[in-house]
Amino acid sequence: MADGAFGLTKELERETAGVWAKVKDHVTPLEWPAQARLISEINRLKRERDAVILAHNYMTPEIFHGVGDYVGDSLGLAKEAARSDAKVIVQAGVHFMAETSKILSPEKTVLIPDLRAGCSLASSITGADVRLIKQRYPGLPVVTYVNTTADVKAETDICCTSANAVQVVEWAAKEWGVDRVILIPDEYLARNVAAQTTVGIIAWKGRCEVHERFTVDDIAEMRAAYPGAEILAHPECPEDVLAAADFAGSTAAMTDYVETRRPKQVVLITECSMASNVAGDVPGVQFIGPCNLCPHMKRITLENIRDCLLHMQFEVTVPADMIERGRLAVQRMIDLPPPLVPARYDLVKARHHVDVELI
Ligand code: SF4
Repeated sequence: MADGAFGLTKELERETAGVWAKVKDHVTPLEWPAQARLISEINRLKRERDAVILAHNYMTPEIFHGVGDYVGDSLGLAKEAARSDAKVIVQAGVHFMAETSKILSPEKTVLIPDLRAGCSLASSITGADVRLIKQRYPGLPVVTYVNTTADVKAETDICCTSANAVQVVEWAAKEWGVDRVILIPDEYLARNVAAQTTVGIIAWKGRCEVHERFTVDDIAEMRAAYPGAEILAHPECPEDVLAAADFAGSTAAMTDYVETRRPKQVVLITECSMASNVAGDVPGVQFIGPCNLCPHMKRITLENIRDCLLHMQFEVTVPADMIERGRLAVQRMIDLPPPLVPARYDLVKARHHVDVELI
């Protein structure tokens, strides 16, 4: 009987009250009853299927706070997938993330709610491209951003994330006894890493379609409109955007910055849902645009997560030999000591232009 708020039963209102408290600035009272029912249904299906949901930072708040068992960046999620005892993993994220989960947990069933959830960066390069690059630069280690497909990871020496890319590049140069490494596929990440290290970087022209669109003019406009706001940028943005920001770092570093420093007003130069999700955990901090939406991440909805669990669709598989080779590259990175604090990109160094060799 609908005797609670929003036309929900008292029981459902109680069950979802904690989620509502976190999403109420982003979800309207008109939308909430349908979302609350879906959240309850999904959480019941998870128990029945022995499933966990890995929700990326760029998921909408009702997914992130409502049904995510583990939330975070792509690597953090894959590591949680490997640690979990659940039989089924639902990847609330894009396809390369589901593949990474499969690489680290080959015995589990990995599902993605929409097979079309791709990534401009991951699709910029293939395993065949990497084989040609290796022929052109024999003896140099291949460091690959974790935002890549399984066939690219299988051709990789070691993976990296934006949080540890500088550390991984320096480790690879030392381990291989060389002064240059191949860092692919994100051109801007490669340029921003090059500004932080003396190791030479050979880069690929891949771009994240969300982060490449930010410009220094966006930052100038924000500064004029909100003089007190602190501006944080992700290292997949162009170098001049990083140099114009107050802080640059991975999603984990940005979250850490906001949680520990609690600025009155903050601008996150990254995907829109990231700000909405961090906002749920830091009341009192005002988040200001601009932000860009990732159309691939936004393919994942509460409805298709429910259908995914109901019909056990769509399974993501990776050939066994690719799992084995890709796992080595991911595991090498995991085995490096984690940074003591989430890595930040030093903007003083970023202001010094460092050339990279673009393939
Ligand atoms: S935000 Fe960028 S890197 Fe992430 S999935 Fe979307 S296009 Fe790919």
